[in-house]
Amino acid sequence: MSTTVEIRKSVPIVADVDVLVVGSGIAGATAAVTAARNRATTMVVDRFGFPGGGSGPGLIGGAPTLELPDTMPDGLPGIPGEFVRRCEAYCNAPLLNHYFRDSQVMIYMWLRMMQEAGVQFMFNAYAADPIMDGNQVRGLVVENKSGAQAIRANVVIDATGDADVACRAGAPVDTRSTYGHPGMYFAMANVDMEEYEAQVVNREPNREDLRWAKALFQRELGRGVGRLNRLVSYFRPAWESGEYKIIRKVDDLGSILMDHGLFRSVSGAQPVRDPIRIGKYGIVGALVGVQGGKSHLSGDAAVMTSLEVGCRAYIFETSHFLRQHIPGFKDAYLHVVSSYFHSRGGRSIVSECPVTTSDAQAGRLYDDVVFVGDDPENRSAKEGEARRGRIEGFDFPYRQFLPRGVEGLLVTGRAAIIQPPVMRARWMIFLMGQAAGAAAALAAKTGTTPRALDVRKLQHLLHHQYQSPMGSNARLRELGII
Ligand SMILES: Cc1cc2nc3c(=O)[nH]c(=O)nc-3n(C[C@H](O)[C@H](O)[C@H](O)COP(=O)(O)OP(=O)(O)OC[C@H]3O[C@@H](n4cnc5c(N)ncnc54)[C@H](O)[C@@H]3O)c2cc1C
Repeated sequence: MSTTVEIRKSVPIVADVDVLVVGSGIAGATAAVTAARNRATTMVVDRFGFPGGGSGPGLIGGAPTLELPDTMPDGLPGIPGEFVRRCEAYCNAPLLNHYFRDSQVMIYMWLRMMQEAGVQFMFNAYAADPIMDGNQVRGLVVENKSGAQAIRANVVIDATGDADVACRAGAPVDTRSTYGHPGMYFAMANVDMEEYEAQVVNREPNREDLRWAKALFQRELGRGVGRLNRLVSYFRPAWESGEYKIIRKVDDLGSILMDHGLFRSVSGAQPVRDPIRIGKYGIVGALVGVQGGKSHLSGDAAVMTSLEVGCRAYIFETSHFLRQHIPGFKDAYLHVVSSYFHSRGGRSIVSECPVTTSDAQAGRLYDDVVFVGDDPENRSAKEGEARRGRIEGFDFPYRQFLPRGVEGLLVTGRAAIIQPPVMRARWMIFLMGQAAGAAAALAAKTGTTPRALDVRKLQHLLHHQYQSPMGSNARLRELGII
């Protein structure tokens, strides 16, 4: 039986700010710090009790500068660069694939930098309906322990990763991104690394088992075995006896797989200097991802719930399988699992100016560029002809933050992009956050809407204050930025 309940209620206004940032992952947290440093009163709301999103409770904290193009030899500029440097000062080492350590450092550093900038927080608060005045967003209603509460704002930034605010404000959204690929990270502790490396990592896989596994992966997923190749002789008997399935279908929703293998291990593809690993007993991590089916529907609560339940069972059973069968794991235990199930892509806005694969491949220029982006997959495809670092990339236009048909709203981070081209790399998410935060502050302080913003002023600020990479000096002169 399908029914509708209409709820009308008065909601107390608990804050009135220049800029309200919804979601405090990399994009939202960077946007909040940037807006506040540009003298906008700023509030950040998140459904969790702390910031970080995928890089915080999602535990994908390691390597925030992964895939950074050689055109930025000195690392990320501006606020993102400051953030990374300050995190690294705590770690006494580069942030590099040490997912669970770096996530905690990043959570702390976001809190600290937001507090220093004067950002107000409202955590454990779920974004509900935006406050609308015609097609203009004027703030947001949140649901938290105190009930429903309203926050008024001159400009709202949707950094939820799934375009939650834009969607409820009536903006058209797109769910076709082929890089949805949601997943979770887990780590096993007390692994006897010496035994594991001697028995598993440093041994060639049995050829017959490898052939069997390749056929299985092709049949089930249409792809190769990848970094799981060293484990084939262990998971084959378990698969055949029905004891443990390395690939697990969740109805028609998608296939769960430990698709990156075991970190610092199976393929040796991740040369990580991990101080925790030194010595006999160490920690081994793995990413569990979901592919195919409806796994791209990150805005569908029922789909995401079923997939998360499936992933949590898969992770526990995988940890049990590892303990039972993989050399070195006998005394290991499941040490940590991501707090939530989250996506690399998913629902995004239909923006005023979406960059397409052909735009990226052609290195298309836009006069409203806010930074130069780079698709790592496009880069490696071109590797033969143009080596890494010599590829110029493509312009990321300001209009990509603007949802169609809705005013007063900027969308940044994951939900501002449709993939491919692949723009989920965190260094680009940082730069998106910085640009959106600066734009929101400028719009709020000058009493204009994000759509009517003078983009040259924004570019000027991004270049002079934050050294956002926006092209050559000749290009900057052509645009009147210098
Ligand atoms: C499994 C996995 C592996 C990845 N691996 C890599 C990699 O190797 N390299 C790489 O560069 N990138 C990787 N990524 C991508 C990268 O992590 C993301 O692109 C990046 O974290 C996105 O940041 P974001 O700020 O846009 O969104 P998120 O980190 O998703 O942040 C969104 C925030 O909004 C909050 N929120 C959402 N909805 C609401 C709501 N309704 N109300 C209140 N708050 C809300 C969330 O709690 C969260 O804090 C990976 C992602 C995943 C999922």
